Amino acid sequence: MHPLLSIQNLNVSIGTKEVVQGVSLTIQKGEVHAIMGPNGSGKSTLANALMGHPAYTITQGTAEFCGKNLLAMEPHERAQTGLFLAFQYPRSVAGVSLRSFLFRAYNAQMAKRNPEKKQKSPIRFQKLLQEKMRELRMDPALAERPLNEGFSGGEKKKAEVLQLLMLRPLLALMDETDSGLDIDALQVVAEGINAMRSPEFAALIITHYARLLAYVQPDYVHVMVRGSIVESGGRELADRLEKEGYKRYGITESA
Ligand code: ADP
Ligand code: MG
Repeated sequence: MHPLLSIQNLNVSIGTKEVVQGVSLTIQKGEVHAIMGPNGSGKSTLANALMGHPAYTITQGTAEFCGKNLLAMEPHERAQTGLFLAFQYPRSVAGVSLRSFLFRAYNAQMAKRNPEKKQKSPIRFQKLLQEKMRELRMDPALAERPLNEGFSGGEKKKAEVLQLLMLRPLLALMDETDSGLDIDALQVVAEGINAMRSPEFAALIITHYARLLAYVQPDYVHVMVRGSIVESGGRELADRLEKEGYKRYGITESA
């Protein structure tokens, strides 16, 4: 059996700048991994490159997802295969409501994953959407607003988690989904992610702080510093980083 995600010796550059260097990471089905690291260490670069963002160039290494060459796939093929990215900075889209955006994404992905299954009717989709929005304590009116336009920081993050709950990917890359959330919203988001946990769902949680990891307990924690994974361990590593920061890696942080 192949791992769900297998990254070998990956280098990623932005323009001429090599940001990610020699990252290797294996994620099996059902596992929750966390990548922690100081700002600017290349966490988002890694996530965006895995999703196929055109601004990021893979200069070395391999990445396989579900046994297929991830790097040869278009971003939409990566999504259809079951990879999902919750953005650190979600973009707003004028003229497309959150509901219609999700309805299209949902149908496009389900048609690919279960070709024999009939498309969900708009009414049944709407019921499911309302149910998931209730779970995330989101105002149902948000579904009719242009995607992320004028959403508060917390509403944007919840909208990313709503996508996760609706699309049910095999592997979710969650890029700082906890940042900017107050403690109540953080718990709601954590409950949402925990509700997804099953042998059919894996996650890579990218975060600066250990506080989300107190609610969504990772199986493995990796520390990324200056573009490389410098240490890996269990969840106790997150607790140590929360106490000590990154100073043992030669990083002093002011914020
Ligand atoms: P993290 O998510 O760990 O905070 P990033 O992956 O966002 O780190 O950034 C890693 C490094 O790459 C930083 O030095 C950042 O300034 C640089 N970088 C990120 N995006 C760009 C970009 N679009 N153009 C140039 N440099 C970038
Ligand atoms: Mg980042």
